[in-house]
Amino acid sequence: METVLDQATIICSHCDRAIPVANVDLHNAHCSRNLQKCKVCGDMIAKKNAEDHYLTTHAPVSCSLCSETMDRDIINIHEGEKCPKRIVTCDFCEFPLPAVDLAEHQEVCGNRTELCHLCNKYVRLRERCNHEASCNGIIQDIAIGSSRNMMQAERNERVQRRQRRRPQNDFSTKRLLFSIAITGIAVMLGSFYLQRKADSSEVH
Ligand SMILES: [Zn+2]
Ligand SMILES: [Zn+2]
Ligand SMILES: [Zn+2]
Ligand SMILES: [Zn+2]
Ligand SMILES: [Zn+2]
Repeated sequence: METVLDQATIICSHCDRAIPVANVDLHNAHCSRNLQKCKVCGDMIAKKNAEDHYLTTHAPVSCSLCSETMDRDIINIHEGEKCPKRIVTCDFCEFPLPAVDLAEHQEVCGNRTELCHLCNKYVRLRERCNHEASCNGIIQDIAIGSSRNMMQAERNERVQRRQRRRPQNDFSTKRLLFSIAITGIAVMLGSFYLQRKADSSEVH
């Protein structure tokens, strides 16, 4: 290694920097006492910051979700795409759940059936896309669009039917309560009258 760069500077063997010859003694004392070379990245760092530097720059980190420890350059990929505890959503019901449980959930969820309004058959959710593409030969996006519209229309109709029915129910319930009340009053009045009659016949 070249130690003398030119007349004016010298390379410090500790930090590899060019030091003016006039400052060499002073620099050497300071450099070896206060600085050290990072074993990982080779940067010169203050000895008192060495631990901090290692922890914040090189130390392995643990995943916030599964606590597995790994190199920091892969933590983002791990948390976003690999971690078994990252939250994903079910393809069929869009329920959010940890990735590790997804396969088991979808196995069950995809087996549920839903009525296809084009052919009036029950279709497994996992087969719905294929079915809608081929059902009655209607092309896929029209099939999805119209089956959604039909589902929506049916739902609206059901809601309207329920709303139409409710006032009648309320009315007949009120009428029933009313006639119970009338009967109750009649019975009370009747027994009160009989009581009075009994009392007056005892007195006389
Ligand atoms: Zn130095
Ligand atoms: Zn370093
Ligand atoms: Zn993780
Ligand atoms: Zn699901
Ligand atoms: Zn169908």
